[in-house]
Order: sequence, then C-alpha cells, then structure tokens
Amino acid sequence: VSSQVELLLIVQERDRKIQRMEREIDDLPKRKALIEAQLDSHKRAVQEAEEVLRKGGLQQKELESEIDECKAKITKFRQQQFEVKNNDDYRALENQIEATNKAIAEIEERELVVMEAVEQAEQVRDEKSQELADEQKLVDVELGKFQERIANVERELEETRALRKRDAEAVDPEWLSRYDRIFQHVGDYALVEVDENHTCGGCHMKIPPQAVHDARKLDSMTPCMYCGRLLYSLP
Ligand SMILES: [Zn+2]
Repeated sequence: VSSQVELLLIVQERDRKIQRMEREIDDLPKRKALIEAQLDSHKRAVQEAEEVLRKGGLQQKELESEIDECKAKITKFRQQQFEVKNNDDYRALENQIEATNKAIAEIEERELVVMEAVEQAEQVRDEKSQELADEQKLVDVELGKFQERIANVERELEETRALRKRDAEAVDPEWLSRYDRIFQHVGDYALVEVDENHTCGGCHMKIPPQAVHDARKLDSMTPCMYCGRLLYSLP
C-alpha cells in the first residue's frame, strides 16, 4: 500500500504537468502573432510598391489630359484659321499651333519617363508580391505545425486532467484538500523533500531536527514551519 505522500507525489506530478500545459496554452496567441508578424515587412514592401504604381498612374493620366487639352486647342486654332480674313492673323494662329505641338512633344517626353517608372514599379511590385507569397507559404507551414501543437497540448491536457482526477481519488480527502490549498497558494510545489542539508525544498529554510525526523513518516503531515508546504523525506 502506498503512503499518502507517495500517492500525492503522483498527483503533484500531474498538477505540475497541467500547469505547464495551461501556461503554454495561455502563451499561444502571442506565439501565433509572432509567426504572423514575419509577413509584416513583406506586406509593407508590396504596399509601398503599389503606392508608387498608383502615383505613377495618376501622373500619367494628368499628362494625358494635358495632351488632350493641347490637341483640343489645336483643333480650335485650325477652325479659327478658316475664319480669319488676313494672312497675319492666319500666321499668328499657325505659330500658336506650332507652339502647342511643341508643348505636346514635351509632355509626351515627360510621360515616357513616367511610363518607364511605372513599368519599373510594376516589376518591383511583382517581385515583392512573389516574396510575400513565398513567405506566406513558410508561415502557413509554421502555422500548420502550430495548430497541430495546440491540438496535441489540448488533448494531452485533457488526458492529464483525467489521470489527475483518477489519482486524486486514491488520496485521503484530508490530505488532498490540504495539498490543494497549499498548491494553489504557493503555485509550484505543495509537497517538498527535505534536502540533505536539512532545509525545506520549497523555501530553503533550515528545518528543526524533530521536523526532519517527522518528515520520514509518510503517512503523517509535517508542514514546514516557515512556508507551510508539506515536508517529506523518502528512505
Ligand atoms: Zn518551507
């Protein structure tokens, strides 16, 4: 027949395991966020490239509408040329047409520069999108493993809780409730071994000889006079 201390040591081992797994589960959202944050810089790079593209597209449109305005002016000048009565006026209009055509050529040159920049920005955007997609694949693999880990921990936690329940049933109720209270209060170990220097394994204070002696009796409770944990000493 096992002693109360031995029975409780099994329960305590289960409780420690449950504690570790509960902490891991609490920590999971943070770890998931860290994995997903690996994508942030890649997402930003794509966004920046798209912003450059958007601005380039706007510039191109503006230049094109400037060209359209110039062309409309030329059409108007040509109509006016039909209506003028003398050569001087006709030539003046001809000069304006010429100047406007020159202006169009200049705008078209600027448009060419913008178009080249847009083309380059498209390339950058495609590269960055590819990099993001590649990184997303890696992150997906990691997240998959992560989901697996969560499922495993949750399953193991459930199993351990069931085992804990079973093992706790073998313990004397008085011992169990004392143990539970201490465990919840101190948060690490309710049952601690007296070490070779006769100190408490929990608070490390020196234990009086009588308590060291009592700790060997595994079916009677010997609380540490300093921290309240239950002391034991295995043969
Ligand atoms: Zn102690």
